[in-house]
Amino acid sequence: MSRSKDLISVIVPCYNEEESLPLFYKETGQVLAEVGDADFEFVFVDDGSSDGTLSVIKNIAAKDEKVHYIVFSRNFGKEAGMYAGLSEARGDYCVIMDADLQHPPELLPEMYRRVRNGTCDCCGGFRKGREGDGFLRSFFSRSFYKISKKLTHMDMSDGHGDFRMMNRKVVSAILEMREYNRYMKGLFSFVGFETEWIEYENAERAAGNSKWNFKSLFAYAFEGILSFSTAPLKFAGVIGALLFLSGIGFMAVQLFQSFRQPNAVSGLDILVFIVLLSGSLQMMFIYILGAYVSKDYLENKRRPVYIVRERG
Ligand code: UDP
Ligand code: MG
Repeated sequence: MSRSKDLISVIVPCYNEEESLPLFYKETGQVLAEVGDADFEFVFVDDGSSDGTLSVIKNIAAKDEKVHYIVFSRNFGKEAGMYAGLSEARGDYCVIMDADLQHPPELLPEMYRRVRNGTCDCCGGFRKGREGDGFLRSFFSRSFYKISKKLTHMDMSDGHGDFRMMNRKVVSAILEMREYNRYMKGLFSFVGFETEWIEYENAERAAGNSKWNFKSLFAYAFEGILSFSTAPLKFAGVIGALLFLSGIGFMAVQLFQSFRQPNAVSGLDILVFIVLLSGSLQMMFIYILGAYVSKDYLENKRRPVYIVRERG
């Protein structure tokens, strides 16, 4: 069926967003209604919420035929939510947005203008600053992006999030990557395409709480590095080689000293230290190796990224 107007799909992964969803729906709908030359649809993905998110979505959907939804059988995480939304969206252009209004809908008309004109395939929001995110979280996030950029050689910067509008070419490329361990920022960078950025100021979420804590953020950061870089394995090799060389050096020094002055140096303490150090490093590197092997193990099972309980 050919459409006279473009269709923009707004994909919204939601996990316990009963408070922010009505605000999000209202504000985003108002902005998009003003984009005269495109129709739009919402694809809400309820990622196993335990609050009233689903009934909020159903209420909205009952009154508005532009609203579609997918309900997961449990919480699969935001990555799975984005993948599901992109898989089910019908739009010529798709944009992924958080439900908490941290992604300002005011950017949508300009994003659409740019992707439609073809100056780029993908237009993303670039978040300036991290006010409202807390000092420690900002510090760790910035450091993570710096390290992962070096390790993965991919263009993943702090501020470049998942808030992007893309054309069908980009959506198809992203969907073609069916890996189970998904890391969207890396996938965006991997598929390439012409991407432009529009700056926006960071805002606090409209209502509710962030679903992230330090443990989950650390796991996410580790996931990003494991999915797109094997540098930690090389790092293990380099440290191993350095330890080996220092062991040989240490032995040479010991031999030399004992020739000159028997019993002058008792290397026992240092030896114990080195044994402990190398033992613990070995365990750490086995852990890194295990992390890669277990990723492969999960990939090989070919499990679905998400399971749907209901659609509407
Ligand atoms: N989200 C999700 N599944 C989860 C965690 C989060 O779908 O397991 C959604 C959440 O509802 C929101 C978006 O992902 O729409 C971003 O989450 P959040 O605001 O908690 O992250 P932050 O903005 O703090 O990075
Ligand atoms: Mg948020």
